[in-house]
Amino acid sequence: MKLLWHARCGDMRAPDPRGAWTFCQCGMAAVRWVDPVRGILQASTHLPSDRTMTRIIGLDNHYLRAGLGQPLSDEEWREIAVDEAKAAEGYLFHESRRNSMVLVIAPGESRDTSWATDDDRPEQHRP
Ligand SMILES: [Zn+2]
Repeated sequence: MKLLWHARCGDMRAPDPRGAWTFCQCGMAAVRWVDPVRGILQASTHLPSDRTMTRIIGLDNHYLRAGLGQPLSDEEWREIAVDEAKAAEGYLFHESRRNSMVLVIAPGESRDTSWATDDDRPEQHRP
């Protein structure tokens, strides 16, 4: 699961599953799925200065789904996190990388996120 986080307005938004641009509450940052099946996400800001305030939050899907069953003990949650960090080979979640179920990613920092090019940006973010 990936979310847009625009720290300037404090909003987090899940991208539209159909691939439309999803804007934060103030409208200065946006994301869209380029390929939702592969988890490829594109981000845009109205002003270049907002790029430092715009991040993608990555949440490990298996870890999230663990919360849908019966309530778990703290020990069970720790075990799930350790198991997931071992299983997430090739991902930033992996124990050899960030070893975390929550990621803060600058667009372009991971292979599945990028900044939109000028041609791809939403109409509201064009000069
Ligand atoms: Zn905003």
